[in-house]
Amino acid sequence: MVFPRVEIYTYAIDESDLIEFVDDAWLAFARDNGAAELTRDSVIGRRLWDFIDGSGTRHFYRALFERIRLEQLETVIPFRCDSPELQRWMELRVLGASKGRIEFSGRLLRAEKQLHVPLINSLLAGPKQRFSICSLCRRVHAFGEWLEPEVAMQRFHVFETVHEPAVEHLVCDQCAELLGNAHA
Ligand SMILES: [Zn+2]
Repeated sequence: MVFPRVEIYTYAIDESDLIEFVDDAWLAFARDNGAAELTRDSVIGRRLWDFIDGSGTRHFYRALFERIRLEQLETVIPFRCDSPELQRWMELRVLGASKGRIEFSGRLLRAEKQLHVPLINSLLAGPKQRFSICSLCRRVHAFGEWLEPEVAMQRFHVFETVHEPAVEHLVCDQCAELLGNAHA
């Protein structure tokens, strides 16, 4: 087992999803992962979304942030963050603070040497997961149930596979009914 230098890092965004804080550990982690150009000055004030790849992933996090801000929740999301050398299982603690601020801390749980066989790697990863997100309440439809985004992310290990989830938007039955009543 190989552990990277950094095990815990923290960062925070403001109510407009702009990065307002990163610690030294986050910068070191970014540099270890090939983003050598990142400095605190170049990161503060940028949109968090500039650092998140994939529209399915962004849809999930948008749904989560909306709920976290509304309820000022704290939750823990498991995720994979691989480098060319390492497969890494991590978790992200997400905390809704006051005034729309969200605080994050990332923690490494387990790391293993990367298998340098892409075909086998993608087979092990299984098929791409597909989800629907309600455009109104932001709940996630998965395997016959509507779930809060953090519950879906935890239960279905959405960010623990190497595939980005596929996401489509629709309106859930409950919201459709509320809309129907409002228009009636
Ligand atoms: Zn809904």
